[in-house]
Amino acid sequence: MTRSPNAPAAGKCDRDTARKATPDVTREAPPPAGALPAPSERDWARAVELIASADRVALACHVSPDGDALGSMLGFGLALSRAGKAVVASFGDRRFAVPRLLRFLPGQELLVDPSDYPAEPPLMVTLDASTVERLGLLAPHAGRAGELVVVDHHASNTGFGSLHLVDPAAAATSVLVEELVRRLGLAVDVDVATCLYTALVTDTGSFKYSTTPQVHALAARLIAAGLRPDEIARELWDGAPFGYLTVLGAAAGRATLEPAAAGGHGLIWTYVTRADRAAAGLPYDEVEGVIDVVRRVEEADVAVVLKEDDTGAWNVSTRSKGAVDVARACSALGGGGHPRAAGFSARESPPDIMAALRPLLSP
Ligand code: MN
Repeated sequence: MTRSPNAPAAGKCDRDTARKATPDVTREAPPPAGALPAPSERDWARAVELIASADRVALACHVSPDGDALGSMLGFGLALSRAGKAVVASFGDRRFAVPRLLRFLPGQELLVDPSDYPAEPPLMVTLDASTVERLGLLAPHAGRAGELVVVDHHASNTGFGSLHLVDPAAAATSVLVEELVRRLGLAVDVDVATCLYTALVTDTGSFKYSTTPQVHALAARLIAAGLRPDEIARELWDGAPFGYLTVLGAAAGRATLEPAAAGGHGLIWTYVTRADRAAAGLPYDEVEGVIDVVRRVEEADVAVVLKEDDTGAWNVSTRSKGAVDVARACSALGGGGHPRAAGFSARESPPDIMAALRPLLSP
């Protein structure tokens, strides 16, 4: 297995993006030994001081951004720019493009191509990235930043900044962003709220996971700013091109159920090839939702979908209903994620990739 900058660092589950409807965070999972402590009052105060005193702020989120990464970054960027700060925002993908499903998000005027990103930003803030590798092309910029504030909710965050606002108990990175915006005294208008709400709703799978009274209270504050939850839901989940049905049919048709695998808890897996997508005229970022169909199978605790990207690499999405820690398995193969949603990238054939993964799926 090869490590890929797109491997979910513990992250964002996998390359999963906008349409994710599976748990990004499981609150019952204790942070791993060596995990960063939740932010202290001192950390918050220091972050406020650094950001409030800066004229320019460079923001970055993880590669192949999902709703939480991009929503947190653009929401924070808009709040800062409306307070008069010069803001640039980016993510370090070689092919820099906002996923189609997230193109409705406000604030995209703040985005710059990674090649136009400040080489040595005096103040850089990263959102939803658990490792510096997850910044892709922007990792060297982070290394040269004067101050690097890391805002994230992955328990596996490696602590690559000069200041960390990392809380694994947060349902989404946007929960931390909203707190920061509040502490900075910045306004949350409808555009900022739309970004932060999109981040919250995607990382909680439409309030199916990590849903607490605090999550709903945050949603209420954001909705009160005037956004339309129904319109956001439609943008995120209620539409797909016709070709999606064809590809879904191919993937479903070759799904394999292995009841004895995953320590007897059951495994279901399938794959989507580049050829499947080409035949249906479907771009890579349209197949994120396949895992959410496959993982419904009741006979399996673990669901795996291997997705071949346009370079021939396989991005492997894994989900667990709770018996198996898929983050541990994916981490062993160079990826990472959360206990119930994780991923990694590899270049071997699907059977070979599964042969490496299968023995790691133990309760
Ligand atoms: Mn997140």
